[in-house]
Amino acid sequence: MRCPFCGHLEDKVVDSRESREGDVIRRRRECLKCERRFTSYERVDEIPYMVVKKDGRREPFDRDKVMAGVMKACERRPIPMAKIEALVNSIEKYVQDSKDRERSTEKIGEMIMRRLKELDKVAYVRFASVYLDFKDVTEFMSEIKTLVRGRAK
Ligand SMILES: [Zn+2]
Repeated sequence: MRCPFCGHLEDKVVDSRESREGDVIRRRRECLKCERRFTSYERVDEIPYMVVKKDGRREPFDRDKVMAGVMKACERRPIPMAKIEALVNSIEKYVQDSKDRERSTEKIGEMIMRRLKELDKVAYVRFASVYLDFKDVTEFMSEIKTLVRGRAK
């Protein structure tokens, strides 16, 4: 598995654990090159959970996509990987808790923003700027002003 830190392809598994429900196997891996540790999840391939976009299109929920978006927002911020992973896990759980097997991208985005806001203000603003797509600049600017005011106190 590719190391998320240095891109090296060889690793060793240092720990394997099955989830309580038995549907996910979590493996702690250590990169053979940079020796940093990361986690991989192995799960049963099921009927996909869908996300519904603003224009009504549906696509399968992609955990990696959420992870990539959050990682990008958290780039070079002092946020432990475990926190990012926990955030993504909670989003995945939220999607999988849906009776209809689908959630709107809007709700997912809002949830990520709420979590990031608690975690790191810079990451939050970065994510919000991408997610909100500057469609509502006024709202975004007032959000930034609130943050700046909060910091000045
Ligand atoms: Zn590595």
